[in-house]
Amino acid sequence: MPTQLEEAKNNNLTALMKRIAADEQVKPRQILKNLKAGTVVIPLNKNHKIKKPCGIGLGLRTKVNANIGTSTDKCRLEDELKKLGAAIIYGADTVMDLSVGPQPRLVRKEILKHSTVPVGTVPIYEVAVKAEIRRKDILGFNAQDIFETLEDQARDGVDFFTIHAGVTKKSLEALKKKRRLLGIVSRGGAILAGWIRRHNKENPFYEDFDRILDIAYEYDVTLSLGDALRPGSVLDATDKAQISELEILGELAERAKKRHVQVIIEGPGHVPLDQIQKNISLEKKICRGAPFYILGPLVTDVASGWDHINGAIGGALAASFGADFLCYVTPSEHLRHPDIEDVKTGVIASRIAAHAADIVKNPRVALRWDRDMSVARKKRDWQAQIKLSIDPDKAKRYRKTSQPHLSDVCTMCGEYCSIKLMEGCI
Ligand code: SF4
Repeated sequence: MPTQLEEAKNNNLTALMKRIAADEQVKPRQILKNLKAGTVVIPLNKNHKIKKPCGIGLGLRTKVNANIGTSTDKCRLEDELKKLGAAIIYGADTVMDLSVGPQPRLVRKEILKHSTVPVGTVPIYEVAVKAEIRRKDILGFNAQDIFETLEDQARDGVDFFTIHAGVTKKSLEALKKKRRLLGIVSRGGAILAGWIRRHNKENPFYEDFDRILDIAYEYDVTLSLGDALRPGSVLDATDKAQISELEILGELAERAKKRHVQVIIEGPGHVPLDQIQKNISLEKKICRGAPFYILGPLVTDVASGWDHINGAIGGALAASFGADFLCYVTPSEHLRHPDIEDVKTGVIASRIAAHAADIVKNPRVALRWDRDMSVARKKRDWQAQIKLSIDPDKAKRYRKTSQPHLSDVCTMCGEYCSIKLMEGCI
């Protein structure tokens, strides 16, 4: 069965393309054209049936991903399934299972079974977990272990893979020369860098990229080319190591598209506000418009406990400049494994960022929501305002405590309610 990209190249408008077009209120031919150009992807494995597939990329609503999954310390499957439910309810368009706890396959299969949205993974995590279980050594794996895991995950229905193919012997040498404040902060990147050094071999994701393309093509898994060398400090942003890796990802993206494999590019990380626009335009230029999946970006290093706001500031700006896909950041970033409340808060913060960007990217569609809210505010229609809120539960709770003004104004201005005072005046 052809991939969605192959169908687009053959000018076949599939039912999935039509469905995405209807959801996004764009013409189906636009989806086909952008899929063909590689500026839009539809991450959906041939073996995965879900209620809410989505398109990511040019001309489409900015999408939000929520990371869930077990850690070595917190590994209850029920908790991760609850987080999955919360992430979807509060508006995540995709989820990634980043499990590194025991029984990674069981967790992944359960998440795949229960998710109504596309599911991504970082396969090197499972490779490392299996190596730890079998050989008591996280780095005790070989290339064959990697490809077996990729095949397993693709067969099970994973919709997109993060592939850390940009960390190579050469890029590690370059990184050694240019002393960074925070080295490698990507977990997958660190595993592969350790493996390359230990075994003195080239990264199998890079060296055997064609083998990965074979697997991705067979199941129509979208490749998310990971930025193993992303900056983990605003002081390391946009450095040579980051840009050299981006150039490698650009070349690999072209190879993927030629093989009819859909591809997105992952991006930083920690980036000061004044470098965000440059980062987006570099990606779009080097990777020929491939959808850009931003991990934040966090615009300062000091927001511990409030990194969801930090990420939303960077994400809103990045998306307004053309980033297509925001990976959420929770308040627990850098501090602990997120709980359900952290997941909810992180998703909502990213959704606000995404919508703020969509107002400038696609006002025709995005502004309808804001217009409806403004009309409800003008009418002081509290029920409608609560319903239209990004977090209706919280809005309802706050409104309920607006005592004693529960009728036609609120306790912010009370009798001085400007909206009420102006009623009938203009
Ligand atoms: S009281 Fe003030 S804050 Fe409340 S609805 Fe009126 S204008 Fe808005």
